Amino acid sequence: MTKVARDYYGILGVRRDADGNEIKRAYRKLARELHPDVNPDEQAQHRFKEVTAAYEVLSDPQKRKIVDMGGDPLENAAAGGGGMRDPFAGFGLGDIMDAFFGSAAGGQRGPRSRVQPGSDALIRLRLTLEECLTGVSRELTVDTAILCELCRGSGCAEGTSPEVCETCGGRGEIQAVQRSFLGQVVTARPCPVCRGVGEVIPDPCRQCAGDGRVRSRRTIVAKVPPGVADGMRVRLSGQGEVGPGGGPAGDLYVEVEELQHSTFERAGADLHCTLRIPMTTAALGAVVPLETLDGVEELDLEPGTQHSTELVMSGRGMPKLRQSGRVDGRGDLHIHVDVEIPTRLDARQTELLRELATLRGEDEGGLAVTNGKSGGLFSRLRSHRGR
Ligand SMILES: [Zn+2]
Ligand SMILES: [Zn+2]
Repeated sequence: MTKVARDYYGILGVRRDADGNEIKRAYRKLARELHPDVNPDEQAQHRFKEVTAAYEVLSDPQKRKIVDMGGDPLENAAAGGGGMRDPFAGFGLGDIMDAFFGSAAGGQRGPRSRVQPGSDALIRLRLTLEECLTGVSRELTVDTAILCELCRGSGCAEGTSPEVCETCGGRGEIQAVQRSFLGQVVTARPCPVCRGVGEVIPDPCRQCAGDGRVRSRRTIVAKVPPGVADGMRVRLSGQGEVGPGGGPAGDLYVEVEELQHSTFERAGADLHCTLRIPMTTAALGAVVPLETLDGVEELDLEPGTQHSTELVMSGRGMPKLRQSGRVDGRGDLHIHVDVEIPTRLDARQTELLRELATLRGEDEGGLAVTNGKSGGLFSRLRSHRGR
C-alpha cells in the first residue's frame, strides 16, 4: 500500500502560504455548511471531519511544519484503528470548540498546578579579547526571584493552608453555555477567582503575598571558559528565577559581549592584524618585535618581503572552544604586511633612490603590465621560451 500525504491545504481550499487568519476563515466557512447540526447528510459529515482535521493540523505550527516537509502528522493516529479506517475519526465537536473558543489549558482539563517552573534569565557580560583568551570568573549581581523563606513557597501565612475555590468548586474552570453559528455550545474558561488553580489562599503569607517567592538581589559567580566569543551564552543551571508557588528555578544565561580590540580582528579562533613596515625594511629584511596576546615575540621578516604578504604565527590565536565545552588547541595569528612607500623625499633621499634605480637598471622604467593574477606565471613562461 502506498502512502500519499493528505493535501490539507486542498481540503481547506487555501493557498500553501495562507496565514492563520485565512485558515481560520476558510474553516469557519466550511464548518457552517458541513456541520452535522446543519447538514445531516453522511457525505457532509465525513467532509466535516476532514476539514476539521485539516484545520487542526494547519492551525498547529508544529503539525503544519510536518505537512510542509511532505509528511502527515495524522498518519500514526490513523494507523491505530482496526477495520474500516477513518483517519478523521478522532475529530469531533470537542476539538473544534477548543479550536474556536479555547479550553482551560489547550485540552488539558481540570485545575492547573499552583507551582510553576521559573523563567530563565539573561545577563550580558562585556569581555575584552584578553579575557576571552583566558576565560574569567566574574561576580555578577542579579535581580531575581528567590524562594520565600517565610512560607517555603506555599504562599500561606503560618498555620494556614489553601482552601477549595468556591467559585469553581475546585475544578479550576468555569463552564458557560454560548450561542454560536453551530448552535449552543458549552465552553470552559479558567476560573478568574483562583486563576485556574482550583484553590485559594485565604490568609496569604505576609512576605510574598501568596506568590511563594520574593524579589531579591544576589551575587553569583559566573565562570566563563577560555575561547568564548561575542554572542556566546554560558548557561548557569538553576540560577534563574524561582517559579510561582516556589517552583523549580529556571536557568541563568550569561551572554558574552566581546569588546573590539585595538590591534586584533577576530575570525573564529584566528586573529588578524596588520603590520606596517617601511619600504627599506621590506627590502632589507629585519627581525621586528610584535606584541601578541602572549607577550612580545620576534617576527622574522625576510629580505624582499612583499606588500600584502601574510605571515602566520601558528597557535597564537584564540582557544578553539568546542560545543562540549572543551578547548581543543588554539587558532593562528595572521599578520598582513603593509609596505609603506615614502611620500615625501628630501633632496638627498631622492638622489640616493635615483642612484639605486640606476644601479638596478630601473631608471628606464622596468615595468611590466599584467592582468594581476597570472601575470607572474605568464611572464616567467614567456621568458623561458624566449631563451
Ligand atoms: Zn476557582
Ligand atoms: Zn511567603
